[in-house]
Amino acid sequence: MHEARTTCPYCGVGCGVTACVDNDEIVEVQGDPEHPANFGRLCVKGSALHETLGHHGRLTRPIVDGVETDWATALETVAKRLTEVREAQGPKALAAYLSGQLLTEDYYVANKLFKGFLGTPHLDTNSRLCMASAVAAYKRAFGADAVPCRYEDIEEAEVVVLVGSNLAWNHPVLYQRLRTAKQRNPLLRVVVIDPRVTDTCEIADLYLGVKPGSDARLFNGLLAWMAERDRLDRVYLERHTKGFEEALAAAREGDGSLEAIAADCDLDPERLETFFYWFASHLHVVTLYSQGINQSSSGTDKCNAIINCHLAGGKLGVPGAGPFSITGQPNAMGGREVGGLANQLAAHMDYDTPGARDRVARFWATDGLTPELPQGPGHKAIELFEAIERGEVQALWIMATNPAVSLPEANRVRAALEACPLVIVSECMADTDLLRYADIVLPASSWSEKDGTVTNSERCISRQRGLLPPPGEARHDWWIITEVARRLGFGEAFAYAHPGEIFDEHARLSGFENAGDTPDEGRRLFDISGLAGLDRAAYDALAPIQWPVTAAAPRGTPRLFEDARFATPDGRARLVPVRPRGPEQVLSEARPLRLNTGRVRDQWHTMTRTARSPRLMNHRAEPFIEIAPEDAQAYGVDDQQLARLVGAGGGEYRGRVRLSKGQRRGEVFVPMHWSDRFSGAARMGGLLAAHLDPVSGQPESKHGAVGLEPLAPG
Ligand code: SF4
Repeated sequence: MHEARTTCPYCGVGCGVTACVDNDEIVEVQGDPEHPANFGRLCVKGSALHETLGHHGRLTRPIVDGVETDWATALETVAKRLTEVREAQGPKALAAYLSGQLLTEDYYVANKLFKGFLGTPHLDTNSRLCMASAVAAYKRAFGADAVPCRYEDIEEAEVVVLVGSNLAWNHPVLYQRLRTAKQRNPLLRVVVIDPRVTDTCEIADLYLGVKPGSDARLFNGLLAWMAERDRLDRVYLERHTKGFEEALAAAREGDGSLEAIAADCDLDPERLETFFYWFASHLHVVTLYSQGINQSSSGTDKCNAIINCHLAGGKLGVPGAGPFSITGQPNAMGGREVGGLANQLAAHMDYDTPGARDRVARFWATDGLTPELPQGPGHKAIELFEAIERGEVQALWIMATNPAVSLPEANRVRAALEACPLVIVSECMADTDLLRYADIVLPASSWSEKDGTVTNSERCISRQRGLLPPPGEARHDWWIITEVARRLGFGEAFAYAHPGEIFDEHARLSGFENAGDTPDEGRRLFDISGLAGLDRAAYDALAPIQWPVTAAAPRGTPRLFEDARFATPDGRARLVPVRPRGPEQVLSEARPLRLNTGRVRDQWHTMTRTARSPRLMNHRAEPFIEIAPEDAQAYGVDDQQLARLVGAGGGEYRGRVRLSKGQRRGEVFVPMHWSDRFSGAARMGGLLAAHLDPVSGQPESKHGAVGLEPLAPG
């Protein structure tokens, strides 16, 4: 029996885990007392990790065209069919769809293969559904996708604003940290802004049950209110920002009275003003935002409306302050680091980053081997499946995610997958909804087997360690990608023996000061070259550390922008004019209810792991439809009765009605986790039409239009 340290594979808090390993079994897990994300805490999902393991239900052999085979045959078939598509249709007929569940090393080699060596820009990720709007807004404001805060800031704040975030369920350890901070400091004020009354409200000093979609109007109102009452940090604005006057002019458009803003947001004016006053009169304010803000057709604008208020008050770059986007998945941040979004090239470099293509081509030594590096961005998630529909993309490799359930217009996505000539799926579990569309299935290793790094919401890189051998012939994702690359003729560039070698290459590529590069101010923020050159033992022992990590900052950088120097050409942050727009999906006679979606406390994504723990299933055992009691009466449904939602996404969702006084009138909430394999018909993605944020490409998953019908007597 021995103890080993690793990282929880679920949410973006990225808690450290101490696992007790007995032979080939993890018999117990506890929170790692030394990990800076959780200091020994775990939530119920994290503490049940060992209950979700085991070889039952795992994929253990490759499958080609429905027949189990050996790895050599599977890998050769993948290489041959990718080559056939590329030769017949060109490199842009190839695509990959990745996941925030992958480790950074997996992400790195996938990005290198597809963009660097196969020459297609079409590599995107399910993180597009989770935090793409936050990324785009940080770039617009700071010149770089850089999260300014660290978790300690939440504890050091005087006011914590939670907007579009049910922290208690979705980032439970951060909620525990906030609750403890509040117990220690009774003056700490917590504001919750959310259309639903959630468990997070238990620690709220002020709850604002905002009308869905009105967040930008609310924060624009705050900016105008601060200006009106001279609550701005004029020195900070003058010295370190640009665009204030334009942002303020946009915020003042329309009726700027408190009563009008409150009416537009469906709030009590007095409570709204209390929030404005608390925000404006404290320096140490952290605004935590998550999917409730990001998953919107105007998500980027909403994020910038929040950031504008922080810049206007100088509330960032100091302890206990900043606009803090919390990621949903364990390694959404790692994917951003390696360039694993369709709009990125590599290592936080966009296609229009000066000198980026040249630098990456030199670094990867792609010259003469392959088509050129792509010239510009590829298709973002939803666009990618539309390109498959049109026949432009003919080969898709999906890794560690299930778009057949999670994407809007799920039926359309399934039809696209059905029609795609080549679908390759790397997956751990043998019974996901996606596998029926796969021509080639590659059995991948899972948590407790995989070895590499992840980066959490506060930019902290942590080791996830391989503690158990993968079952049967399952293999690590980086190994699978590398073996395919070798068979495609790129062996020299993919000659990795261990994920530590991939991490080293990633760290070197991130370096800011490499000779011969075009200077790029933004890249200094992402530089982890201080972690390059680790030998195997040092990589194995790597302790959690926050980027950037450089020779000048060898212990990492807990908080960004303390020097108020941003990654824009003139070093100033930008306030962005925001003109609030409502949700795209309009209600209709047939679909009169507003749909909201989200996670439940004890489940993760499509439940392939968490459903294996009876303890976790006890919390919410089946799909449900949460509705206000008055609406239930109006629609003729009772508590616990089976009912059906029909949505604009062309699908339906069956679940048991749950009456909730925390649900606004005219709205319903459904959890995202269940799919056909559990429940017959409870696919959230089938209810949603694909309305996208024009800047980030993130779909509007928090707002749909549905009709409700009772299915059977209660
Ligand atoms: Fe895992 Fe998130 Fe829970 Fe931490 S808070 S134990 S990372 S699920």
